[in-house]
Amino acid sequence: MFKVPPVPAQRLPALLRAMPKAELHIHIEGSLEPEMIFALAQRNGVQLPYASVEALRSAYAFTDLQSFLDIYYAGASVLLHEQDFYDMGRAYLARAAMDNVAHAELFFDPQTHTARGVAMETVVGGLHRACVEARAELGISSALILCFLRHLSEEDAFATLEQAQPYLDKIIGVGLDSSERGHPPEKFARVFARCRALGLHAVAHAGEEGPPAYIWSALDVLKAERIDHGVQAVHDALLMQRLARERIALTVCPLSNLKLRVFPSLAQHNLRQLLDAGLAATVNSDDPAYFGGYINENFTQVFAATGLTARHAYQLAWNSFEASFAPEADKRRWEHRLKEAFDRCYEYDS
Ligand SMILES: [Zn+2]
Repeated sequence: MFKVPPVPAQRLPALLRAMPKAELHIHIEGSLEPEMIFALAQRNGVQLPYASVEALRSAYAFTDLQSFLDIYYAGASVLLHEQDFYDMGRAYLARAAMDNVAHAELFFDPQTHTARGVAMETVVGGLHRACVEARAELGISSALILCFLRHLSEEDAFATLEQAQPYLDKIIGVGLDSSERGHPPEKFARVFARCRALGLHAVAHAGEEGPPAYIWSALDVLKAERIDHGVQAVHDALLMQRLARERIALTVCPLSNLKLRVFPSLAQHNLRQLLDAGLAATVNSDDPAYFGGYINENFTQVFAATGLTARHAYQLAWNSFEASFAPEADKRRWEHRLKEAFDRCYEYDS
């Protein structure tokens, strides 16, 4: 194991920003900034229930997951054409590259779009083109994960999978997102089994607001390879042991948890507890346009609030590469770059 050099506290924020990392929990529709929502609304002649960019931004005062989702779906209504999905994907990937994200796995919610009459081909086509061009032009690696909306039925998820069949070569896996409470993973047991049989990776949101039992069933029923959020695992000692033993990654999103009041303050976030218990936690932005920051902002703010150290920073970045669905050769290359970033830590100014 790489011996992490001591890093003076004042250099830590710069190191957090400079180190290469993977982002494994980003909903691409949640990267739509108010400016882009207004620009796309104008381009597509969509009427928004907000008078200005400022009015929309000030409506981002959520109290819980549901109040956020209401605005999130309104924002997504401006996405109609392949170019819109491309522009959204490309804007995120350019922003992520600035944060030294070497690899991103993008969640997208096709049902939010197909329900409005937008074709699956339009959604996947635009996002895939953004990924391909960003790799060539920005050097950032990326992949797409199709998420099923858990507040809808499993039948609806099956119909979505059916529509996605011609484009499965452009999708690396499936996930499960949207309102967690009252929608346990078991509801999607059959569609996830079908996806796995098709060779797709499986991940699922569990234990964000929902109970540890949802994490157990995401693992045992859906065979999820990563748990998105998972912060409620700390309430179940047996589950914590299993997550650590099996090195199941948790894609933790500190600013999202703060904004949606999963924790009353960032200082009370349990990221350190998860890491110190040997869990493969990672740091991610979730819906950065809505929750007050992209991945580096999540890193710097949670480190400042909870007193995490350089050793934790290295572990988090290493976990993110290890837990990604990228080829092994890419993982080794990024992990080598990570070590180099730490070896150069004395060059960073804060
Ligand atoms: Zn999420």
